[in-house]
Amino acid sequence: MDKVFQSVFYLFLIIILVKLSQFAYRVFRERKYMKELAQSGMPYIDKMDGYQFEIYLKALFQQLGYKPQVTQKSGDFGADLVMKGKDKIVIQAKRYGVKNRVSLSAVQEVYGAKAYYKANQAWVVTNSYFTKQAKELAAACDVTLVDRADLQKFINEVNPVFKAREIFENITPEPRKCPKCGQDLVVRDGNGTRFFGCSSFPSCRHTEKINKEVSKSRPSV
Ligand SMILES: [Zn+2]
Repeated sequence: MDKVFQSVFYLFLIIILVKLSQFAYRVFRERKYMKELAQSGMPYIDKMDGYQFEIYLKALFQQLGYKPQVTQKSGDFGADLVMKGKDKIVIQAKRYGVKNRVSLSAVQEVYGAKAYYKANQAWVVTNSYFTKQAKELAAACDVTLVDRADLQKFINEVNPVFKAREIFENITPEPRKCPKCGQDLVVRDGNGTRFFGCSSFPSCRHTEKINKEVSKSRPSV
């Protein structure tokens, strides 16, 4: 009788251990998967142009429960997004190369936008980092700086189904002219990479990256 009881007990113990390790493995795999998905956004953000980045931020902040609006291209008074809600927040978006830090002027502009839009908060959001001067001024003017690490935290908070890749591939970047011949540039797809090519191809063979940094993309009034 004791032996029967013992073997039943051991069998039971083994079943529990197997179930537990299966459960632990599932939790581990799910966490890893979520983390990977969340982090998968940044490489696509790095490839976007300024306009695609604004659309991405609009989608991101919507997921986070804000009500963002992309402002008109001309006369945006220093705000790329205006978020309405309990607090009104104006945002200036800077999609830069990681080595290119966001300077003081972004802080000045969004500070002006805060007054113009009668907002309670002003943010500068970038996939890059800020210069020391920008940080100093932001601290003095109560402007919130969201750098690459902070942006990653926001991305980690949202539903992992949400992907930067879809925006990069489906949203048309802001129109540009060819610097060589003055014709329109058009988005082309070659070997899985998207880039701008001249519309007068093949007579003009100019191409450039979508995330090419233009010194001043919009007129500052
Ligand atoms: Zn051209």
